[in-house]
Amino acid sequence: MSPPKHEYYETLGVPRTAATDEIRKAYRKLARKYHPDLNPGDKSSEDRFKNVQEAYDVLSDPKKRPMYDQYGFYSENGFTGAGPGQGGGPQRHGSQPNMDFSGFDFSDPFPGAGTGPGGRRTAESAGFRDIFSQFFGNKGGAPQPQPEKGSDLEYVMTIDFWQAIKGTQARVNIARYEVCETCHGSGASGAGEVTCPQCKGTGQVTQMAGAMRFNLTCPRCGGSGKLNNACPTCGGDGRVSHTEAVEVRIPPGARNGSRLRVPGKGNAGLMGGPAGDLYITTKVEEHPFFHREGDDIEIQAPIAVWEAALGAKIEVPTIDGRSLLKIPQGAKNGQKFRLREKGVPNSRTGQRGDQIVEVAIQATEPRDERTKELLREMAKLHPEDPRAEMWSKVG
Ligand SMILES: [Zn+2]
Ligand SMILES: [Zn+2]
Repeated sequence: MSPPKHEYYETLGVPRTAATDEIRKAYRKLARKYHPDLNPGDKSSEDRFKNVQEAYDVLSDPKKRPMYDQYGFYSENGFTGAGPGQGGGPQRHGSQPNMDFSGFDFSDPFPGAGTGPGGRRTAESAGFRDIFSQFFGNKGGAPQPQPEKGSDLEYVMTIDFWQAIKGTQARVNIARYEVCETCHGSGASGAGEVTCPQCKGTGQVTQMAGAMRFNLTCPRCGGSGKLNNACPTCGGDGRVSHTEAVEVRIPPGARNGSRLRVPGKGNAGLMGGPAGDLYITTKVEEHPFFHREGDDIEIQAPIAVWEAALGAKIEVPTIDGRSLLKIPQGAKNGQKFRLREKGVPNSRTGQRGDQIVEVAIQATEPRDERTKELLREMAKLHPEDPRAEMWSKVG
């Protein structure tokens, strides 16, 4: 038997003694960094993201974490049927299969959700946790009596350059668990025996993993196909999955990767526990020439040779329209000028950033003899070698 491994802690970069809060913070930081929507086409980021999700799913769960700490892996499936007093359970861990989750299809359990205006819901983010709780979260069939906070949901919203600057409002369809109206979240009813909604009374559930099928004993009812005094709508969970249109307001000045919290719009809690939160991460599309650098805007402006040489007042585009920029005499190619407070309003303070204009001197091709003559004359007036400084450094 191999000694317990603790890669989940390494994955999240936290010590084994980390408090739940610390784990959550580490998770959020990494989830943001490796989110597939922010790293399109990057397979290694996607893998990291899944690993981070998996690590968080176990380490953030007060029931799963102790098992992981003790055995070095978490697999409730490995203990199926090993209820209290049945001689199974943890003491058999030497022969437990170390379930490989990598082959599982963590696709969206709510197909079609989140396809409304403004973006899409990412499969890994919310789906991963939900599948775990659906299949492994409720062993032995009895609803867990203690209240538990609902999990947070992540949503990536793509907005264009102007929406990010001016702020925008959108309705997004979020698939979430909400409190069951039949039992008001208690999960109980006086109905006596009801048919288990998860296995529809068969006592077995099928999980597909790519081309493979797993028949598992239904974790909800423990294989009996019936639930005692459980709410017939939610089967004792106290919550049901539901797609809801959530109004999301993106404040002016949102940045690429800004994260917005919509309190209470994550999954409903279990047994009357509080709901989790919904996190909206904004993905801001690029503009053809306005380039955002935080609250500053950077642009490149072409200027003519004589504008650079003689100095000029030129018009440049800003997000407010045209602005005058003073070019001093003898401006250099690549020189940067600052237009104060012509940048983006900060989403928190409203304080505007600056616009940085980098000038690019354009040498125009002379179209006529007169221009050529003037340029030759200019060359005569400036016999010095423009590369003189370079030669002095060659040595
Ligand atoms: Zn119910
Ligand atoms: Zn069942």
